Amino acid sequence: MEAEIIAVGTELLLGDILNTNAQFLSRELASLGINVHFQSVVGDNPERLESVVNLARSRSDLLIFSGGLGPTQDDLTKQTVAHAFGDELRFDEEELEKIRGFFTAWGRTMPENNRRQAYVPVHGRKIENHNGTAPGMIFEDTRAPGKYAVLLPGPPYELQPMFLDTVRPWLASMTHSALHSETLRVMGVGESHLEEKIGHLLENENPTAALYAKTAEVVIRVTARAKTEDEAKAMCEEYAKKFYDILGDKIYARGDAPIEHTVVRVLKEAGATVAFAESCTGGLVAERLTNVPGASAVFGYGACTYANEIKEKMLGVRRETLEAHGAVSSETAAEMARGVRRVSGATFGVGVTGIAGPDGGTPEKPVGTVYVSLATATDTYVQKLVLTGRTRATVRQSSAQHALDLVRRAALGLPQPAARRFDPDGPAHWNDDNTALRDV
Ligand code: AMP
Ligand code: MG
Repeated sequence: MEAEIIAVGTELLLGDILNTNAQFLSRELASLGINVHFQSVVGDNPERLESVVNLARSRSDLLIFSGGLGPTQDDLTKQTVAHAFGDELRFDEEELEKIRGFFTAWGRTMPENNRRQAYVPVHGRKIENHNGTAPGMIFEDTRAPGKYAVLLPGPPYELQPMFLDTVRPWLASMTHSALHSETLRVMGVGESHLEEKIGHLLENENPTAALYAKTAEVVIRVTARAKTEDEAKAMCEEYAKKFYDILGDKIYARGDAPIEHTVVRVLKEAGATVAFAESCTGGLVAERLTNVPGASAVFGYGACTYANEIKEKMLGVRRETLEAHGAVSSETAAEMARGVRRVSGATFGVGVTGIAGPDGGTPEKPVGTVYVSLATATDTYVQKLVLTGRTRATVRQSSAQHALDLVRRAALGLPQPAARRFDPDGPAHWNDDNTALRDV
């Protein structure tokens, strides 16, 4: 089945909103094994919408629309699609009562405009919307049976449940197979290096596996197709093991939750706590950690120590260290981590210092040079990150991600790869070799 996605809305063309519905739908269709060959965006204009619909109809079996089901004059997706698919619209009393019911529940009377949303296909079917007034709908082309158009409302909190509850099961039944996907999240191995290690696993037909590079991590998605959901799930499990055999503890979690969720969980399990002293991330590490419900069990202190004087005063970073090595150095990072650990009494102290750019780089320490450090009761580890060629925002996010991974590894008692280990008491005595983490 060849599909395409058509997002309708002038606000998308103006750049006022991001087309996240297309991303959501593409991922969902991919996981169903349905090929998406085109994504289009078209404004709220009847002629241009019609031309996009006709073109899509000529080359795809499944057209999925988002947006343009609103109550106003410019919302015209269903009229246009009904016409192209040889269907008509009828007024649905039941739908009108449902729409009126929404307004009553909101304590308002229904504007006359909203009657427009009670028109549904004569031949096609409507899809119930539990989260808003606009019903979705499915048209089958009366001149070319087996060709479908699915219309979904624009707001993501309406579109996503409607797709998951109704459209996805319908598509799965049409493709006559069950699909299951597993997502493995990998930290500390760059995409190209990862491809070298696991490239041979990416050429399989069923299950399939694909890599997606994200900020400072890579996601592996394994998808199996089988007769039943259980069978597909078992195949995914089996195949996922092959990745674990090669990557081991570099796989930090499964699913969609970012690393801070894993960090909170493993800290809780270890009965440990963490504190942060952040320079170039400006509180981002703490922000991410405290996004996780229940973070208070493992976190009580985060300091944004931007200025050198504050690093000295609050954390006890030595002036000689700052003068000899600079604020962006493994020595300063190590003293920040130790300092915040001491001040907070946490199990682990974390320090982050770096040059996020776009200015402030030097030939020895270009923009994107970041040191993340973690202090335990006995050791201090520092990782040097070389995040060159990134934007300020990406440097900060990557740094936060690596800092969080240091904590994860510490809580699990895993070795810290590519980290420099400091002598517990001395200022700058290296125990181990330091390899900078590149390509992350
Ligand atoms: P509409 O159904 O076109 O009136 O869209 C209603 C609202 O849904 C818009 O104002 C946006 O906030 C949101 N929306 C519409 N299309 C998209 C899209 N493609 N991606 C994300 N949000 C969207
Ligand atoms: Mg609109």
